[in-house]
Amino acid sequence: MQMPEPDKATLARRGEIVAALRSIVPGGKMGGEGVIDAPEEMKAYESDGLTAYRTLPMIVVLPETTEQVSAVLRYCHENKVKVVPRGAGTSLSGGALPLADGVLLGMGKFNRVLDIDYDNRCAVVQPGVTNLGITTAVQEKGFYYAPDPSSQIACTIGGNVAENSGGVHCLKYGLTTNNVLGVKMVLIDGTVVRIGGRHLDAEGYDLLGAVIGSEGLLGVVTEVAVRILQKPATARAVLLGFPTSESAGNCVGAIIAAGIIPGGMEMMDRPAIHAAEDFVHAGYPRDVEALLIVELDGPEVEVDHLIARVAEIAAANGAVYNRVSESEAERLNFWAGRKAAFPAVGRISPDYYCMDGTIPRGRLPEVLARMTELSNQYGLRVANVFHAGDGNLHPLILYDANKPGELEKAEEFGSDILRLCVEVGGVLTGEHGVGVEKRDLMPAMFSEVDLAQQQRLKCAFDPDGLLNPGKVFPQLHRCAELGRMHIHRGQVPFPDLPRF
Ligand SMILES: Cc1cc2nc3c(=O)[nH]c(=O)nc-3n(C[C@H](O)[C@H](O)[C@H](O)COP(=O)(O)OP(=O)(O)OC[C@H]3O[C@@H](n4cnc5c(N)ncnc54)[C@H](O)[C@@H]3O)c2cc1C
Repeated sequence: MQMPEPDKATLARRGEIVAALRSIVPGGKMGGEGVIDAPEEMKAYESDGLTAYRTLPMIVVLPETTEQVSAVLRYCHENKVKVVPRGAGTSLSGGALPLADGVLLGMGKFNRVLDIDYDNRCAVVQPGVTNLGITTAVQEKGFYYAPDPSSQIACTIGGNVAENSGGVHCLKYGLTTNNVLGVKMVLIDGTVVRIGGRHLDAEGYDLLGAVIGSEGLLGVVTEVAVRILQKPATARAVLLGFPTSESAGNCVGAIIAAGIIPGGMEMMDRPAIHAAEDFVHAGYPRDVEALLIVELDGPEVEVDHLIARVAEIAAANGAVYNRVSESEAERLNFWAGRKAAFPAVGRISPDYYCMDGTIPRGRLPEVLARMTELSNQYGLRVANVFHAGDGNLHPLILYDANKPGELEKAEEFGSDILRLCVEVGGVLTGEHGVGVEKRDLMPAMFSEVDLAQQQRLKCAFDPDGLLNPGKVFPQLHRCAELGRMHIHRGQVPFPDLPRF
């Protein structure tokens, strides 16, 4: 994986840049430093959840007000300094990977819930508030924030907005994009804009959809208004065990085809079931090849009715195990195994590489079968834990980074899985973003024309390409050239510009 070459002229000005940024963010009212420039202290920021890659940033800046973010970005814009925004650094696609010649803009001090507006069913929070922190703030009145990434105790809502994050409950309640009403965002030239708000619909162009999922490439979010929902009256989870992954995959399609939208519908294969059971003792059956966790929520009579229908559909698809949660504690325990599945897999392999691709649900059985063939071909084990209802796959490829060549082999295997997702009519990512991880695979899904169009949007926000460069797009473009770019018979223009 190649990143843009660090700019020597910027690095030569490091001392001057540090001094200028220190005068803008001198150190917080909340305590702690405003600027960190000692290499040993910046180590904590050198990587995110994609730990295979690390780079020490040029400087870490930790603002705590929108005015400071605005002044920092204005300075960086005027002085052509690159900026990488960062929340909690849990991105699995390397979205928050620093640049050696860039400012790492840590948003962790933006950690306040600003307003809870039950009348409008929304909460206004700063971007450094954790995902779970929003639910914690509103749960005493019976409300919650629906998108629930497994990383929710750590990841921030700013990171969720940038990645359009999802989770177990997004099948029924939508992803981040369906649960955010508006943001305050600082553009690279320091302008502060509001996009959307507590109201429905936008005043002008609906730019919120472009900003959510933009991976820190369009602006820095400093405030988020999110929708909050009332907790369903009842929620019960069912464990369904199957003799093959294919039969479990068929059951997923059959449940949705029957018109049932569960609150969550997750799937784990045998290696993942065993790893999670050994770690969390969630009560999972060990003698099945695939496990579905299906949650039904709503009024009690409706939940009882749906549980019975799901049981019939599961039996018709060959389920050999069916257990319904009998208490709230048991329901939470069923989910505890799923939510801890990634760290659980971390206990059975020195390293794992978590993929994230999405396919049409109906192709699940076929894709799972082809993934097993690929696993045999590469000689690497795979544990599957995924949002089956959404068709969002998370194969975890198990490898040992200490064995020469295994990381590269795992990456090649992962690329084949993502190409397979595209081949069957799916997409390269579901919820983890493109970052640096899937950047070079973008041409497998988009033509040069598609990519150029997407970059024109980026150029409208950030014409100098200073925000998070080297992420998402497989080729750096100069915006002025992009504006008059002609692509003839798929020929790549400007071959002198770096491609990664
Ligand atoms: C164990 C584990 C489980 C996970 N499970 C899930 C899951 O179930 N679902 C899911 O969707 N993801 C999951 N993730 C991935 C990750 O938690 C999400 O992508 C999350 O949204 C990242 O949030 P963060 O605060 O850590 O952001 P970071 O990792 O710090 O940053 C992510 C991206 O957001 C940008 N960014 C951050 N803050 C801002 C801001 N204020 N303004 C503009 N851009 C910003 C960064 O530049 C970067 O591109 C998991 C990760 C781990 C480690």
